[in-house]
Amino acid sequence: MSVERTLVLLKPDAVARGLVGRILQRFEDAGLKIVGFKMKQMDADFTRKHYFDLEERFGKDVYDATADFMQRGPVLAFVLEGVEAVPNVRRIVGTTFPNAAPVGTIRGDFAHTSKAYSESQGKVVANLVHASGNSDEAKYEVDLWFSADEIFSYETVAERFTF
Ligand code: ADP
Repeated sequence: MSVERTLVLLKPDAVARGLVGRILQRFEDAGLKIVGFKMKQMDADFTRKHYFDLEERFGKDVYDATADFMQRGPVLAFVLEGVEAVPNVRRIVGTTFPNAAPVGTIRGDFAHTSKAYSESQGKVVANLVHASGNSDEAKYEVDLWFSADEIFSYETVAERFTF
C-alpha cells in the first residue's frame, strides 16, 4: 500500500461544459489530495509530448483527431496524491469509451461517445478526463506538467484523523 501521485486533465469538453466542480468533487470525495493545479492551453509540441506514444498505439488518424481536440480550448491539470492513486483514479474515471464506462464513473455518467461511432465517423472521443495509465506514465506526466515547486505538501483533515 503506497502513497503515489497521478496526473489528471480535465479535457476541453469538461471545461467548456462547466463540469469542473462536479468532476473535482468526485476525486475529493474519494479522499484523493490535490497537490498541484493549473490551467493550460496545449499547443502542438506539448500535445505530442503528453501523448508521445498515441500515434504508435492507434495510428495517425486517432493521434491527429485527439491532438486537435485537446487544443480546442484550455484544460485543467492537477496532480492527485493518495494510496494507490493511479489505479484508484482510473477506477473513478471509467473506461476510454464512455458508452462502455460503468454508470457511477465520470465518463459513464457525463459522456456518451462510442468506439464504433468515433471510428466510423473519424470523430474524437470526447471523454472529459485524462488520467495516467500506470505508475511510470504518472511519473513522466507529473514531471512534464509540473515543476517541483508547483507541487505542494500539506496535511488533510482525513489524514490527521485516519493515520
Ligand atoms: P485512456 O484515456 O482511457 O487512458 P488511451 O490511453 O487508450 O485511453 O487513449 C488516449 C486518448 O486517445 C483517449 O482518451 C481518447 O481521447 C483517444 N483515443 C483513443 N482511442 C481512440 C479511438 N479509437 N478513436 C478516437 N480517439 C481515441
